[in-house]
Amino acid sequence: MKKFIFRLLIGIVLVLAVGYGTYEVMNARGFQVFGELTDHVETDEKVVALTFDDGPTERVKDLLPLLEEYDVKATFFLVGNEIEQNLDEARMIIEEGHQVGNHSYSHQKMVFKRYSFYKNEVNLTNGMIREIGYKRDIDFRPPFGKKLVGLPYYLNQLDMETIMWDVEPDTYYTTPEDKVAYVNENVKPGSIILMHPMYGEIEESLTAIEGVIQTLSDKGYTFVTVDELKEKRRK
Ligand SMILES: [Zn+2]
Repeated sequence: MKKFIFRLLIGIVLVLAVGYGTYEVMNARGFQVFGELTDHVETDEKVVALTFDDGPTERVKDLLPLLEEYDVKATFFLVGNEIEQNLDEARMIIEEGHQVGNHSYSHQKMVFKRYSFYKNEVNLTNGMIREIGYKRDIDFRPPFGKKLVGLPYYLNQLDMETIMWDVEPDTYYTTPEDKVAYVNENVKPGSIILMHPMYGEIEESLTAIEGVIQTLSDKGYTFVTVDELKEKRRK
């Protein structure tokens, strides 16, 4: 009986360890099992990348002038089915010289699915991004930051890089003031900042973005695209 209970306990510990490990890997900001992943770059220069997830939506028309005002080039991770519905907005982003990345086709969690699911989600959106005239390399950002084995394996086949982030104000705070303060405290040279301007309160969203741009500019930071940030990597 003692032996049985001992084995049962060992079993429970093992299941928990594997489960915990899977969960950790699935959500890890700085690690995946295949291919290249970047959540920030090591650099001595005061540069950061501002990245926007989801959309495009009609919000793009309010966001682009703000970025232009401050001469900020950003990186937009777009969702395929939203590109389909907002082709003009997607093209505007490209015309303004921002970087565009793939954020899946239907914005579902890219874990525990068939391999063909990952392929479709990636390929459909890559096709769309090419169709609207984007010529540069296309990086991928997984919806909800979730990836395990199948997705990274396929991205690696295509030589596509996974871009995560190390500063995420929208995850922890709701008011623009709190978000700006959080970014101010947590930013470092080479940070990748994630924000979500495509849905929710437009005014608050723009205020937060403008606050981040102003605060970091005052600290001497410049804003670059993710591609440019990777070039700044300490050699
Ligand atoms: Zn998203």
